[in-house]
Amino acid sequence: MRLLVVEDEARLGQALRRGLTAEGFQVELAADGEAGLEAALHGDYAAVLLDVMLPRLSGYEVVRRLRAEENWVPVMMLSAKDGPHDQADGLDYGADDYLTKPFSYVVLLARLRALLRRGNEPRPVVLAAGDVRLDPATREVTSAGEPVSLSPREYAVLEHLMRHVDQVVTKLDLLDNVWDMNADVDPNAVEVYVGYLRRKLGRDVILTVRGAGYRIVQ
Ligand code: CA
Repeated sequence: MRLLVVEDEARLGQALRRGLTAEGFQVELAADGEAGLEAALHGDYAAVLLDVMLPRLSGYEVVRRLRAEENWVPVMMLSAKDGPHDQADGLDYGADDYLTKPFSYVVLLARLRALLRRGNEPRPVVLAAGDVRLDPATREVTSAGEPVSLSPREYAVLEHLMRHVDQVVTKLDLLDNVWDMNADVDPNAVEVYVGYLRRKLGRDVILTVRGAGYRIVQ
């Protein structure tokens, strides 16, 4: 299985190549964003490990251009940046997973194997559920083709639910992912925001799963 590692820190790139080669992968290295994009577009890779802060083209831009070319190679972003916003940024542009440096090699391998199982199926970045469409790159939401204006918090709640379409999402899960974990938030805030969303999108878009949480259906 061929892997592409796009990493400008030579030592980390070499260490990844050594480690992954020992696991039986065939590893190629690119040291900047442009070289990485070229290689990813033209090479037949099972997955790409992609640094965020790269010379010439950022990792975000590389993954955005890959997806714009309808190249669906699984991409794991690697970055020293931290925090939920940075993670969301990479995923918004079409990355499949995200590891923050420094990462454990064991975790990297486990996540990489999960990524490889997904394969190169098309994964359009626009999320869909019923008549609702949400484009994480532009943050535009439409319902039956009509634009819907949402506050940042409403948007974040809807995006989290749509990223877990057909799954039950608990209130706690929403609090952890949408609100600052350190803030003292009233759990009823989730109900309030789900109420706002229902008013804007229609009552039947977000279902209440009694005693468990919420579910949005494909
Ligand atoms: Ca870098």
